Amino acid sequence: MYTCGPTVYDYAHIGNFRAFLFEDLLKRWLKHREFKVLHVMNLTDVDDKTIRGSQKQQIPLKQYTEHYAKAFFEDAKALNIEPADVYPRATEHIPEMVSLIKTLIQKGIAYKGEDNSIYYAINKFPDYGKLSHIRIADLKTGARVKVDEYAKEEAQDFALWKAWASEDGEVFWETELGKGRPGWHIECSAMSMRYLGETFDIHCGGVDNIFPHHENEIAQSEAATGKRFVNYWLHNEHLLVEGKRMAKRYGNYYTLRDLLAKGCDPKAIRYLLLSTHYRQQFNFTFEGLDAAKSAVERLTNLMRRLRDVNGESSGEKLAQLTSQVERCFGEAMDDDLNVNVAFASMFDFVRDVNNLIDANKLTKTEAEQVYSLLTSFDKVLGVVGEVSKEEALSMEAQELISKREEARKAKDWKTADELRQKLKAMGIIVEDTAQGVRWRREKR
Ligand code: AMP
Ligand code: ZN
Repeated sequence: MYTCGPTVYDYAHIGNFRAFLFEDLLKRWLKHREFKVLHVMNLTDVDDKTIRGSQKQQIPLKQYTEHYAKAFFEDAKALNIEPADVYPRATEHIPEMVSLIKTLIQKGIAYKGEDNSIYYAINKFPDYGKLSHIRIADLKTGARVKVDEYAKEEAQDFALWKAWASEDGEVFWETELGKGRPGWHIECSAMSMRYLGETFDIHCGGVDNIFPHHENEIAQSEAATGKRFVNYWLHNEHLLVEGKRMAKRYGNYYTLRDLLAKGCDPKAIRYLLLSTHYRQQFNFTFEGLDAAKSAVERLTNLMRRLRDVNGESSGEKLAQLTSQVERCFGEAMDDDLNVNVAFASMFDFVRDVNNLIDANKLTKTEAEQVYSLLTSFDKVLGVVGEVSKEEALSMEAQELISKREEARKAKDWKTADELRQKLKAMGIIVEDTAQGVRWRREKR
């Protein structure tokens, strides 16, 4: 599996992380289904944007990109994204790119322009346009584009190798192709095939990558090898802000750091970005983030609660609920990662188990079964993590909470308040919300 990684010219925004989280979910689900996954995610550390950025700051390209690469790894960790197996950097794979371009020249598909850059002749590859559904007949063949990003309407011969120009400053490689640097698209063809072979299974990225980036990757790789490049392409839709794609160029973005600095919980951010199907757009809002936080808490609270359960048997009930949720969750996730249905079935299950516990109808062994099932879901979701024994509510605390509930129902505010104080002394904060009583540990 190859996923286009970050262009390390700035801090990634949470739109970018929507892409990386979707890929993380896909990988976790494949592993859950016992596929062996070899995951390669590149770092684009030389392209038009990184060069421009480093020049603005007047520091060497490497120093500039390393700062953002480090930040990316920190952010990915904060979002509990499982690391890829390999993180190739473009600047460390120039020989592979040169050799691929040489093959394309030998095959008569690439040619040198008057500016000494090397271009890909799109009319030499009959399948050009098959991913993004553009028709080669509609294209201005012969016209050339040297920049990395351009619109579908501007499809034309694109640069594989960009001859050095003064605006590139210190950034160039002296190679058999002349003094210059690679185009963005050849980087991903070379790095993916270096680690995964000429044909591999899965390639992901955001929908904005379909054209020109992935279209050009296919053209480069398939023309060079004569083989199918990728078996399955999966593209995630965009995260929006007020209906518009979250993007650096629109200035309408939040980085993960922005949100963490506001006190947002990384688990809630993770859940929010995962909980809309990857092929659907959705708007980022703080209300949405609050709802995501409650969802994560509902799950976490049940897992904590289960640690202290010791009631009577549920009879057949638990087995029924368990087999139903396992089937629903599994079938939905197998269906192109249908998280809407999968997560809904999981939360129905959470509600039903809470009801069993409220009715004292769950034994310790049954609670352990539920706990291990939820743990297996969370290995895919990655929003709860280890719920330690110490974090579980003691029996005494649970009792105080239910006594306080009784007092509140009887409108005995004085007793209720005393019990709240008692709990506070134990480091437990109780809150009365529209959904009922919630508790949390005081941060010390
Ligand atoms: P970049 O660092 O610009 O190369 O982008 C990294 C990944 O984020 C790519 O897969 C992009 O397609 C994806 N991406 C960029 N903007 C968004 C967005 N607003 N929502 C979802 N994915 C995005
Ligand atoms: Zn790429």
